[in-house]
Amino acid sequence: MPQLTPHVYGVLTQFNFMNAYLINHEGKLTLIDTGLDAAFVVAIEKELKAMNSTWSDIHHIVLTHCHYDHVNNLAAIQQKTSATTYAHRLDAPVIRGEQPVQYANPATLNFFERLILPNLKTVFNTGRVDVAVNDGDGLDAILPGTQVVHLPGHSFGQMGLWLPQEKTLIGGDVMMGLPWGLSVPFKVVSPDWTAAKASIKKVAGMPVENLCLGHGTPLIGNAHAKINTLAQRLR
Ligand SMILES: [Zn+2]
Ligand SMILES: [Zn+2]
Repeated sequence: MPQLTPHVYGVLTQFNFMNAYLINHEGKLTLIDTGLDAAFVVAIEKELKAMNSTWSDIHHIVLTHCHYDHVNNLAAIQQKTSATTYAHRLDAPVIRGEQPVQYANPATLNFFERLILPNLKTVFNTGRVDVAVNDGDGLDAILPGTQVVHLPGHSFGQMGLWLPQEKTLIGGDVMMGLPWGLSVPFKVVSPDWTAAKASIKKVAGMPVENLCLGHGTPLIGNAHAKINTLAQRLR
């Protein structure tokens, strides 16, 4: 299964509906996002095997944001590793179960979006967050140079990991890869739409070559042009 860049491996499900990633730094692994169900835990294990690694090689877990599909397996995976877990300080309380998750304000949504809102998951498995991080924090233990990029809007603490030496952004749900191209995230689950659009523009201002998102095929090489096209369409 796929090595995407010099240090990043994908845990990609069918149609890339849901992705997690592994950063490999000399055999010490970082898992980015944990997926939502037992089948996804199996998918991670399969990728570990393909890398000749085991759960105990995962030294760090990073959560891009507090949504169900990214954190539901956290506690299950924490039982398999002694990894240090990181999340943005604004989403850490939600992941720990100390605060409820917030989705969009119904007043900002259209009729159809409002129909979806009551069906969204608000209760999910919680887990430990050991380190609450902020924009610009350096996470050299993961891979020298690695930086936290706060990309809020889709959740208040949605964040990416920037690997400058290979110009790779692991971006969570700041954008979404759809079969017909790069898209904004789902508005119904995004509590601050103005910030969500500003975050896409922030990424457009970075020299991103490779963009690895939570949903959709990773863009390896020349990601910047596609991000720019999306950013220019935003009002
Ligand atoms: Zn999300
Ligand atoms: Zn998601």
